[in-house]
This record gives sequence, C-alpha cells and structure tokens, in this order.
Amino acid sequence: MDRVGHFIGGKHVAGTSGRFHPVFNPTLGEQSKEVALASRAEMDAAISNAQAAFPEWSAKSPIHRARVMFKYKELIEQNMQELGELLASEHGKTVPDAKGSVQRGLEVVEFACGIPHLLKGEYSDSVATGIDLYSMRQPLGVVSGITPFNFPAMVPMWMFAVAIACGNTFILKPSEKDPSVPMRLAELMLEAGAPPGVLNVVNGDKESVDAILEDPRIQAVSFVGSTPIAHYVYKKAAEAGKRCQAMGGAKNHMIVMPDADMDQASDALIGSAYGSAGERCMAISVAVPVGQEAAEALMASLRPKVETLKVGPSTDPDAHFGPLVTAEHREKVLSYVNLGIEEGADLVVDGRDFRMQGYESGYFMGGCLFDNVKPDMRIYKEEIFGPVLSVVRANDFDEALALPSDHEFGNGVSIFTHNGDAARDFARRVQVGMVGVNVPIPVPLSFHTFGGWKNSAFGDTNQHGPEGVKFYTKIKTVTSRWPGGNKIGPDFTIPTVKA
Ligand code: NAD
Repeated sequence: MDRVGHFIGGKHVAGTSGRFHPVFNPTLGEQSKEVALASRAEMDAAISNAQAAFPEWSAKSPIHRARVMFKYKELIEQNMQELGELLASEHGKTVPDAKGSVQRGLEVVEFACGIPHLLKGEYSDSVATGIDLYSMRQPLGVVSGITPFNFPAMVPMWMFAVAIACGNTFILKPSEKDPSVPMRLAELMLEAGAPPGVLNVVNGDKESVDAILEDPRIQAVSFVGSTPIAHYVYKKAAEAGKRCQAMGGAKNHMIVMPDADMDQASDALIGSAYGSAGERCMAISVAVPVGQEAAEALMASLRPKVETLKVGPSTDPDAHFGPLVTAEHREKVLSYVNLGIEEGADLVVDGRDFRMQGYESGYFMGGCLFDNVKPDMRIYKEEIFGPVLSVVRANDFDEALALPSDHEFGNGVSIFTHNGDAARDFARRVQVGMVGVNVPIPVPLSFHTFGGWKNSAFGDTNQHGPEGVKFYTKIKTVTSRWPGGNKIGPDFTIPTVKA
C-alpha cells in the first residue's frame, strides 16, 4: 500500500507516529493509499524548519520572491495534466473539473507574481520640520494553512502563494482525504527555487491542527473547512493571540426572477448545483423562483436536465460529475435526501439508487431535486454538500431577498433577471459576502478577494487579493527626524504639528 508522509525542510519524510488515515479512489470505491497522521513532535520539527528558513527568505528582495512565483507558475502549467489526474483520483471530481480547480489556484500564483507592488509602503515628506513619516509592510514569520478536501490544490494556493510571496514561511496541513496533490505542490515550490523549509506540508488530523493552534511560533492561521471546525479554530487561534481567518460552510441561493430566461437559469443551476457532485462551497444548493409562474417554468425547464445528468468515473471527460469523496460522505448525503422526504419536501428527481455500470463499488449517486422545500426544514437549514438541489418557492422579491439574508450562512448568492433595478437593489441589500448577477458561481478572481459573511467566515480579512496581502503582513510606521543644524530642546507636551 502506497504511503503519503510529510514534506518538511525540502524533503519527503515518512510518518513516525504510527497513525494513518485511509485515502480512497472514489471512482473504484477502494482504498488506494494511506496517509500518515503527524504527531506533535513531527509538527514541531516542521515548525522549526519553517522558522529556520524565515530570516533568509524574508530578507530576499520582493522581486526575487516574485521570480520564484513566475517559475512556480511555469511548473504548475507544465504539470497540469498530472496534477488534474492525481486530484481526480483521490477526490472523485472529473479530470477537466480538477484541472479547472488547479487553474483557479494558479491564478493566485499569478497574482502573487505582482505582490511587490502591494508591499510598497507609504511615505509622507516633511510632516513637520525635518520629519518624514513612512510605513512598510513586513512578513509575519511562520504562518499556516489548514485546508478542506474539496479543493486540495486551489485552497492551499489561495493561502501559501500570497504568504510566501510576502516573505513568510508556511506550514500547510491539508485534508487527510486527498493529500497527494498538496505534496506535489510543495515539491514544485522547491523546484521553483523556494529554499527548503519555505513550504512544508504536514499531514494530520485534529492533533496536528491543535499543535498549530497552540505553538507560539505560528503567527497566523488561515483555515477553510466546515463551520463548526472553522469556529473552533478561530476561537483557539484568537485565544492564543494569533491572527486568524477561518472560512466555513455554505448554503448558496439562486434567485430566479419572473423575467429571467428560464433556459439560461436552469443551465446555470445544473452546472453550479451538480458540478463536482455539489462538493463546492460555492455550489448553488437552493433555487428560489419568484412567483408561481416562474416556479412552474423553472421546474419544467430544470427537471428534464436533472434527469439526464451524466454521472461518470472521474476519468470520463464527458461526465458532468463523478463520485462523492468517500462512502461515508455519500451515506451522509443520502441520509439528507431521506430526511427531506420525511420532512415533507417533494423529491421530484431521485438519484439515490444510481449505480455506475462497471464501477459498482464507486461512491456514486445521481442528482436529486427537491421541490416545495420550506425554510424550517433541516434540508434547507443545513449544508448537504452533495448533488442535491432544493427549490424554495417565494411569493415576491422581498421574500426571496430575505431567504439568503436570514440564513445562518452567507457565502455566495446569485440573482437571474433582466431587470437592472432589481439586480442592483438585490446586490446592495442581500446579507451575503459574494453576489452574482446572472452568474451562477460568483467566485471573485484572484486580484479581488474571496470570503463569505455570517457563519461562513470568521475573522476580518478575506482570502487572496489585497486582503490576503494584509493578512500575511504587518504594517510598521516610522517617524524620522533629521534636524540638520537645528537644535531641539526638551518638550514635555504631546508632540503636535504647530500651526
Ligand atoms: P472539515 O471541516 O471536515 O475539514 C477541514 C480541515 O479541518 C481538514 O484539514 C481537517 O483535517 C481538519 N479537521 C477536521 N476535523 C477537525 C477537528 N475536529 N479539529 C481540528 N481540525 C479538524 O471540512 P471538509 O469536509 O474537509 O470540507 C468541506 C467543508 O469545507 C464544507 O463545509 C465546505 O462548505 C467548506 N468549504 C468552505 C470554503 C469557503 O471558502 N468558505 C471553501 C471550501 C470548502
């Protein structure tokens, strides 16, 4: 059985804790590898390596670090097919979708190539006699990222590309479900010219996460995963005085106004609800048609498209989506479908019994579509994270606006309409962090920032873009006086600028 260890100080090291976690091939429905779960001592060694690498790396010029990022970009491009296939073999998403997710991470690397521009400080000349004032952005030191299974390349790259380009050294604790791509990303960073210890990957579970949260040498923690763990990480990191951003779960709505092009809206819905088997934090999992007529038209357009979704092995480039990540996760999703029926929602497309011919052990299920879901049902309130779309019918615009606004999660939302006034009003008033207008998955590009509201994100700064640079740097302000020939005597009052 293949074993995945850790990548510490520029070297592959085998796990020594004696604890392992199985890694599955979801298409085949069998274990393919096992990943080592680090002990505190192993995490400690990784942090020591990152700390030792920091003085030299942070002292490099911003352009030097940017050049490493340029080289890294080239290497990712050269290895795109391999990364996509590796990712798909452990996650289950299709290879084209997996490559797309690597590409979205690569865009953050591209953003990081231009970070020297954002590291510039500000300068004020002659703020008083002989006094100039300037600021500089400095890296924090050893920083860390804890990432989820659903984007094992993109989410780590959101974090470490920005952190490393800013001069920090990094400890990545990826998901134990699909650890191979993060290991490959670290190898490529070394090949691109980042010295050993700049990017370390420590595989593990809660024990490793707690070691990160408790070690005083870790200056900042970026987390992406489910809301209960995000909240736990945020509380513990804050208690320890660390900088923390912790992104959590989601329940993303798509409002379909009566004037929307229903064919376009249903096309957008099936891609965003069922792509990657619904295992995306920006997947649309709730459709909200406004008014009875829109609801009937949307269902008439949507239902046949859901019935004919093509589920396939992750190696089939024509499949719309592949299997779920693990058998356990599929059971959880299926139990939500059963719950929806018990709660009284209408299951109009039932994908529960789908079996993939030739891959009968794979963790597949077909797309499920619920109509007449009500806001008090658990299938509406909770994140399902599978190929299940709920339709909640709203009577009017205000009722539709209130649904995502009142929901505990506030990651993404979108509105489909031809009415510019309604779209503008919606975008301004809705209580959600990322909004799409006639765009089903409003994931901002790398030079903007990614982050939800309410229980979808804890902390003040978003991922990547200028917010990411702020997160991974601290600002220092210098007030300097060069008095020339002027003698300056004592002054016991607070310094003020004299008129
Ligand atoms: P998860 O919370 O189970 O795991 C995330 C990370 O936390 C992993 O590295 C895992 O090892 C670690 N972890 C798990 N249990 C822990 C515990 N008890 N203590 C400490 N650490 C623990 O999430 P997941 O299932 O891997 O990913 C899916 C979730 O991530 C979904 O809720 C999804 O919405 C969310 N997600 C959010 C975003 C976003 O930007 N908001 C992006 C991607 C995924």
